[in-house]
Amino acid sequence: MADSPQYKRVLLKVSGEALMGGQSFGVDVSVADRIAADIAEVRAQGVDVGVVIGGGNIFRGVAVASRGGDRVTGDHMGMLATAINSLALRTSLTRLGVDAVVLSAIAMPQICESFSQRKAMAYLNAGKIVIFAGGTGNPFFTTDSAAALRAAEIGADVLLKGTQVDGIYAADPKKDSKAARFDRITHEEMIKQGLEVMDMAAIALTQENNIPIIVYSIHEKGGFAKIIRGKGRFTLVSG
Ligand code: UDP
Repeated sequence: MADSPQYKRVLLKVSGEALMGGQSFGVDVSVADRIAADIAEVRAQGVDVGVVIGGGNIFRGVAVASRGGDRVTGDHMGMLATAINSLALRTSLTRLGVDAVVLSAIAMPQICESFSQRKAMAYLNAGKIVIFAGGTGNPFFTTDSAAALRAAEIGADVLLKGTQVDGIYAADPKKDSKAARFDRITHEEMIKQGLEVMDMAAIALTQENNIPIIVYSIHEKGGFAKIIRGKGRFTLVSG
């Protein structure tokens, strides 16, 4: 059936930047609400959804390091930023009547539950949206790597990366309007060409675990549900 979901369980990576909307910092609640509505639409089709959110709209560890500060502390601040974004998304989902839980890689019991793979599986099996906060819980990693790791842990059929553009290009299409766009590419080719859509650790982890990646535009309303039905514009990384 062309219009039924192609996947049973997916991991969606949303960058912190996407949550900013038109703002220069922080969370635009209307954008968080729209992304939540997209997730709700996919959940309503019976697909299990895990979400990893970045923190770049609030803080990135390298910003501290580049000013001579301590990188590890900076990364801790970045991981806390992902927790803020995770709570914002949970709030938006809850407002829509969708059951969602935040599981954090860093213990903060007054704020949300701590991550364990078993807990994540139980919540996903029960039909709840699971939002993974705190990245991997380790400095020197990114939330792309966290997305690859959680995708492997929950047995996701695919890792979706919602970006600013509708797929993978040979160069930044916002800077080079003639940059070639890929409909399909392999993990290996991505690594070889050094395409900066995801960091290398994330690509390597998905390659090792045979998890395809789909890159699409997070800004198209309903885009997530379309992709799940195999429609719309995206780049598929597999093989
Ligand atoms: N971070 C980290 N370990 C992780 C994930 C994230 O230390 O496993 C920190 C790091 O400082 C990073 C920040 O959290 O810059 C925000 O994450 P990321 O840059 O991946 O967010 P995005 O670019 O997706 O908004």
